[in-house]
Amino acid sequence: MVPMVKPALRRGWRDLNTVQFGMTPAHAMTLGPMDTATGSFLDLLNGTRGPELLREEGRRMDLPDGQVDGLVERLARAGLLDDARGGGPAADALRAKPELLDRLRPDLASLSLTTSEPGEALGLLAARRSLRVQVRGAGRVGAVLASLLSGAGVGEVDVRDCGRVEPWDVAPGGLPAESVGDRRDEAARRAVRRAAPDRPPRRGSRAPAGTDDPGLSLVILAPRDDVAVHAPAPSAADALVASGTPHLYAGVVEATGVVGPLVLPGETGCAGCLHEDRTDRDPVWPRLVTQWRSGKARQTGPPCDLALATAVAGLAAAHALAFLDGRGPSGAGVRWEVSLPSLHWRARPVRAHSSCACGAAEKGNREHSAEDAASHETMAVQRPSTMLRPGTDAARLAGTWRAHV
Ligand SMILES: [Zn+2]
Repeated sequence: MVPMVKPALRRGWRDLNTVQFGMTPAHAMTLGPMDTATGSFLDLLNGTRGPELLREEGRRMDLPDGQVDGLVERLARAGLLDDARGGGPAADALRAKPELLDRLRPDLASLSLTTSEPGEALGLLAARRSLRVQVRGAGRVGAVLASLLSGAGVGEVDVRDCGRVEPWDVAPGGLPAESVGDRRDEAARRAVRRAAPDRPPRRGSRAPAGTDDPGLSLVILAPRDDVAVHAPAPSAADALVASGTPHLYAGVVEATGVVGPLVLPGETGCAGCLHEDRTDRDPVWPRLVTQWRSGKARQTGPPCDLALATAVAGLAAAHALAFLDGRGPSGAGVRWEVSLPSLHWRARPVRAHSSCACGAAEKGNREHSAEDAASHETMAVQRPSTMLRPGTDAARLAGTWRAHV
């Protein structure tokens, strides 16, 4: 290991013997007691020296025997250390492409804040290159979202849609003005390629449109149609639920942006669950949905504020990446909504419904009864922090704690 104190965290001395790593409440940590000599040694942990060289430097600075190894271990256990050579073979392959890595450097630094193991961040970033995601819908939300995923290092982002690019589909980061009149899917795929930090590894021919591709890590449904955003048709996701493909909804309806739910089929509430739940709350819901769906198609596209659409695309992409990176399914069972002009995000729960065929409700019931019987704590979904940083809380050394800043 070639240790490196995570450069993403700004450092400051809280007092003569306590160092604070990071500024924000979400990720800041304090470490103490630490004497000034050890504190200045932190600067040498910058990813250029291996353990032998570090011990030598320690001796030169008159640090007691074992102090250097103890410090490195302590920092590693607090999740504050990265490994300049770690992350496995895929990470090594990424290091061999410095221009690509430079494009992704801020994303790597950000990942280092949400991972605990040295080398883990680059390993995750490298793993993105082998992922396959499909975005259905190439309007103001879908095309931007697909480009964001591509720009963030996801290796293959396919976009599906029909028709031709209309002037109102154009959005910064999405479909460019010069694509008006081109096929929507082709124009969106070009935007995705342009956003990619390098040429992704070539694969075999893509599955033809309409087929259900089992190799997808995630499908994002970002319809241009406002009714499909507000009341997603369960039938549109039948094949995804049947094949167990995780999928995420995102879109803009009237002046409301929607992100979620992230559906883990058979585990968390799906579009069918949402429909059943809404029907329970409002018996005329199905009647309204039928009218909306049979309404006259708009000539110029539904209302869609450009900034709101971009915010939705960004948040949906962040949820997608968190899921793809293997973190807690933070968007599962939740529909985030934000409306103009107040712009307060609200989380609306999407509960698994017993009348829905997806099976999530039965699974939830089985788990609950098993939980009751064994009095087990299995609240991992509600406590993403324990999932994100396995072991760090339990193994945190005395004198290391999350900073209240
Ligand atoms: Zn369901």
